[in-house]
Amino acid sequence: MNHFPIFLALEGRRVLVIGGGDAAVAKLRLLLKSTGHINVVASDPAPEILAWAAEGHLTLHRREQSPGDALCCPIAYACHEDPARDAAALRMAAADGALVNVVDDLANSQFITPAIVDRDPVTVAIGTEGAAPVLARKIKADLEERLPASTGKLARIAKGFRRIAEALPMGAKRRAFWAEYYETAGPRAVEAGEDVEATLHGLLDTHLAAEARPGHVDLVGAGPGDPELLTLKARKALDRADVVIHDALVPDAVLELARREAVILSVGKRGFGPSTSQAEIDALIVEHARAGAHVVRLKGGDPTIFGRLDEEIEALEAAGVSYAVVPGITAASASVAAIAQSLTKRGRNGSVRLLTGHDVKGFADQDWHALSRPGEVAAIYMGKRAARWMQGRLLMHGAAPSTPVTLVENASRPDQRIHTATLADLAAATDDVAGPALILFGLAPRAAQVQTPAFEEAL
Ligand code: SAH
Repeated sequence: MNHFPIFLALEGRRVLVIGGGDAAVAKLRLLLKSTGHINVVASDPAPEILAWAAEGHLTLHRREQSPGDALCCPIAYACHEDPARDAAALRMAAADGALVNVVDDLANSQFITPAIVDRDPVTVAIGTEGAAPVLARKIKADLEERLPASTGKLARIAKGFRRIAEALPMGAKRRAFWAEYYETAGPRAVEAGEDVEATLHGLLDTHLAAEARPGHVDLVGAGPGDPELLTLKARKALDRADVVIHDALVPDAVLELARREAVILSVGKRGFGPSTSQAEIDALIVEHARAGAHVVRLKGGDPTIFGRLDEEIEALEAAGVSYAVVPGITAASASVAAIAQSLTKRGRNGSVRLLTGHDVKGFADQDWHALSRPGEVAAIYMGKRAARWMQGRLLMHGAAPSTPVTLVENASRPDQRIHTATLADLAAATDDVAGPALILFGLAPRAAQVQTPAFEEAL
């Protein structure tokens, strides 16, 4: 970049134009838009120059240039359109301390004037270092088209409004306000012939009201996957959501129910795979709620079951953000439904355990002894990897190897699969399971149960 672009403050300063022909007139047209004091030295000025002088737009000296004419001028234009005369003009003006542009002579000019798109106070300057004037003209034409005539007016009015807009906190909030003004509200007001300043006040009120509205977080259970297993409350929350922050377990079919304008953020967490840390998730929820958003924190199944709900609630409480918990159908419910069994059954089990196969420390220890008694039922979450280990524990504590075990994979989803096994072959049964799966310990599918030899014997 040989020519460094700057915007020169001309208010109260002199600019000298040397020469009075067409080139001078063309330059003057541009210079007269500025606030500088324009001086012209020309012994034979064009009629336009005479008229401008008569109207007081510039100061005309009807004579040849003399030393000192360019004193106190930061810039001067040599416009004789004659190389020898312009070279002399340049030398004289430069001796006065001005930077000199020789019209249409890039090589001899000390500065150049860019192509300009003028939407005062918005000015776009385009320069190509003389390499591609045609391209510069094309860019200028494109920009002229792109920037509506109202741009300048909008910017001018905005300038006077900047202090008032400081009522909005600096950063994203204030940027959103200005973006809406320049992109939609402002141009619309100009087009409709409305008072742009009144529009600005109205827009600011709207943004301030949104700012004052506190954010809220719904911690929502998305159910096991089938969108029809969402609660009505969950659907309503999704309808209102500004932001949806969801786990990997939540399928697209559920996410599609979110309000169309909602921002959907995935904080996927699957097994031991890559994930967003819990602290990052907490921070993300708080950040959006603090910005005034209605956040739906969407978790697979029921948020109160192996959902790390408490950590998120603690973060919200610490941040003073209001929240509500919307329960969902947990994987255990969907899984027993898939095999037409009950989680509890009179005469068989009066209690049921919801277990996790692994916790933060690795495989999770449980009361295997209690679970080994006949008739016990447990719904084991996140149990695939721990299957072999759990099998060993249970057998060691005396559970019958023939205890029925059912793996329900992708419960309630179109790709739901049911794997029947016994405790003896539990580990092997998990080999073939790719999706999220729930292990139902102590339960076999109803139909399969009818066919078990034990049952036949009892007949
Ligand atoms: N809060 C969730 C559980 C999260 S822990 C709930 O209430 O269901 C994640 C575990 O849930 C998975 O490892 C799997 O064991 C189980 N799971 C979730 N969705 C499932 C589904 N559709 N089918 C089977 N198991 C599922």
